[in-house]
Amino acid sequence: MVQLTKVNKYFGDLHVLRDIDLSVGSGEVVVVIGPSGSGKSTLCRTINRLEPIDSGEIRIDGQPLPAEGRALAQLRADVGMVFQSFNLFAHKTVLENVTLGPIKVRKKPKGDAEEKAMQLLRRVGVANQATKYPAQLSGGQQQRVAIARALAMEPKVILFDEPTSALDPEMIKEVLDVMVDLARGGMTMVVVTHEMGFARNAADRVVFMSDGQILEDRTPEEFFDAPRTDRAKDFLSKIL
Ligand code: ATP
Ligand code: MG
Repeated sequence: MVQLTKVNKYFGDLHVLRDIDLSVGSGEVVVVIGPSGSGKSTLCRTINRLEPIDSGEIRIDGQPLPAEGRALAQLRADVGMVFQSFNLFAHKTVLENVTLGPIKVRKKPKGDAEEKAMQLLRRVGVANQATKYPAQLSGGQQQRVAIARALAMEPKVILFDEPTSALDPEMIKEVLDVMVDLARGGMTMVVVTHEMGFARNAADRVVFMSDGQILEDRTPEEFFDAPRTDRAKDFLSKIL
């Protein structure tokens, strides 16, 4: 579903992604962990071409990433993204946030888009907030709306970049529960997170990044029980 081959990315002189090879199969859940500055967010951003790459190749569903135009808009519709800061449209209601993409990009009739949006809002547990504005919701509720908004586009894959790290502790679980539900439901997901419980419960693979490289790419059991590299051991000793 997602295939990166020898991907390199520089910010000026800084080599942030080094020969990244990563493949995420359909229905697979891959958790990406690693120290701050190791390139996790940049990796996510290259996959929906928020950041162009300098060399290598990225394919979604077998197709190389388009550089611009309608094809790029289509790609962004196929590759959902959920950020740390919920990024909802502040001047639109919850329902409008979820229906906007399907109406504008997918050309869905408004009624159909609203019906689907209400289903998704029910699924993430915020249907009773549909007519409110984002600022009237808790962080956990906003993030669940952001997930519903991503799902409304019927994406092929969803990228999550630290979706719970801006949340108060009591709200983390409600968001993680939604993500576990998605993972079990067969969604293809790439998840940058420090929530190791989620990695153990829901990930098919854990990818450990350090200094722009993937140092380990293994099952959660293998990774947590016996990390191979000193850098992964060191990282785990600090966060577990
Ligand atoms: P964190 O855990 O703190 O979110 P990360 O693993 O997501 O870190 P990235 O945000 O991908 O790391 O950053 C990788 C490196 O690239 C860092 O050294 C960062 O300072 C640098 N970087 C990121 N974005 C830019 C940019 N737009 N311009 C210049 N340098 C950048
Ligand atoms: Mg980051």
